[in-house]
Amino acid sequence: MEKTQKIRVCPRCGSSQIREAKTSVSGWLVPKTYYCSDEECGYSGPVFVEVEADEADKFKRAINGDK
Ligand SMILES: [Zn+2]
Repeated sequence: MEKTQKIRVCPRCGSSQIREAKTSVSGWLVPKTYYCSDEECGYSGPVFVEVEADEADKFKRAINGDK
């Protein structure tokens, strides 16, 4: 049985286009920040959500509700 791939998604909009910010400050003690690439969302913060790849759509629908 294959391992299910996990992906990072935005906790606000559920987009999988979340990126880790690289801080130039010399490293440790600096909390990582994650950015959502979705322009309508614009999330940035210290957390992301990790879901299994085949559940990403479900997660996104749960966040956005029925459209
Ligand atoms: Zn987002």
